[in-house]
Amino acid sequence: MDSKENEGFIHIFDTTLRDGLQSPNITPVPLKDRVLIGESLAKMGVNIIEAGFAIGSKLDFDTIHTLSQKGFDSTICSLARTLDEDIIAAGKALKPARSGRIHTFISTSPIHREKKLNMDKQQVLESTTHAIKLARNLIDDVQFSLEDFTRTEPEFSWKVIEMAIKAGATTINLPDTVGYTTPDEYAALIADIINKVPNADKAVFSTHCHNDLGLAVANSLMGVQAGARQIECSINGIGERAGNAAMEEIVMALTIRHDVLPYKTTIDTKNFMKISELVQELTGMDVQKNKAIVGKNAFAHESGIHQHGMSQDSRTYEIMSPKMVGQSASELTVGITSGRAGLKKKMGALGYQLSKGDLTTFYLAFMERAAQGRMNDKKLHALASELGLKCLT
Ligand SMILES: [Zn+2]
Repeated sequence: MDSKENEGFIHIFDTTLRDGLQSPNITPVPLKDRVLIGESLAKMGVNIIEAGFAIGSKLDFDTIHTLSQKGFDSTICSLARTLDEDIIAAGKALKPARSGRIHTFISTSPIHREKKLNMDKQQVLESTTHAIKLARNLIDDVQFSLEDFTRTEPEFSWKVIEMAIKAGATTINLPDTVGYTTPDEYAALIADIINKVPNADKAVFSTHCHNDLGLAVANSLMGVQAGARQIECSINGIGERAGNAAMEEIVMALTIRHDVLPYKTTIDTKNFMKISELVQELTGMDVQKNKAIVGKNAFAHESGIHQHGMSQDSRTYEIMSPKMVGQSASELTVGITSGRAGLKKKMGALGYQLSKGDLTTFYLAFMERAAQGRMNDKKLHALASELGLKCLT
C-alpha cells in the first residue's frame, strides 16, 4: 500500500450507548442520562452514534428515537439482528433522524453458526441478503457486521461480504467479537478482503475490537493500516467483558503519532476528560488510576527523577499536554520515591516557603510519614504544623 492510499479520514463510530451499556456490573442508565451522553458525543465530533438496539427494550428504542430528533450532524444508528421485526423497529426509531443508519448483523463463525444460530452457511447468506434488502427499503445507510468475524473461515467471510455489498450494505464491520485476534493477523484478514472481494471498493470497512487480551486498540489501529476507514469504540473502553477499544486512546494515538499513523478524525480531543468523567459517573464504571489518557495518574508525577525532569521541561516525561485532552495541569504528587526538589515545589504550591534547613527537616520527617501511608494535602499541612512551619496562604 503506498503512502497516498494510507492517508485518509477515519469515521469514529461510538458504541458507548449500545455495547458500552451492555457491560456487566454497570449501573442502569435512564433515558435522560443516555441523552446527555449522546449530546456530548455529538458535540465532540463523533461521526456515528450507536444509540441502542431498538427491539431490545423500550429504553433503547426511546434513546434512539430521542437522539434522532435532535438534528445532530452525527449519524444515529440502531443495532438490529437479521430478523424482520428488529429491522422494522430500528427503522421506526430512526425515522426522525437527519442521518440514520441501520446496523444489522449475523454470526458467521462455525461455532456461532452451529451452537448459537443452528444455521448452515447457505442460511446465513440468505438471512444476510434478506435483512440488508429490507433495511435498504427503509433507509439509505445500512451497515452489516459479521459477528465473530475473526473466527470465521476467511473464504466464507469473503462470500458473505460480497453478498452483503451486493444487497446494499455500504459499511462492512469486521468484529473481533471475542477479543481473540492479534494485530498482524487482523491486518492480514482485512487486507485479504480488500484484495479478494470483487466489490470491496463499494464499501467502507470497519473495525470493532474487544479487549480480552488487551489488544483492542492495537488491533483497531492495525485494521486501519490495512484499509479500514471506520473504527468502532467507546468512551473509557466500556463494553462486553473486558470492553471495547477506548476512543480516547485511539484518537490520541492518531493525533500524537500522526507521523506514523497519518489519518484524520473530526474529534475535538479537549472533550475527553469531561466525557470520561460523565460516563464514569453515570455508569458506575470507574477507570483504573493508570488508565491511558483519562486515568488519575495519566499526567501525574511522583518519583524524584521524573519530578526533576518535569520541572525542567514537561516534554521530558510527557508526550502530550494534559490540556489536549481537557485536563487542567500535570499533577505533582508526593510519596516515598519523591525527591527534595519535588517536595519543595509541592509545599510551595500549598503555601510554604521552605528554607534549606527547613526543607531538610521536613524532608526527613516526610520520608518517615510517607513510608506509613499515602500523603495527601491535609497530611502535609498537619506535618508542617507539627514542625512549626508557617503556611503563607
Ligand atoms: Zn462488541
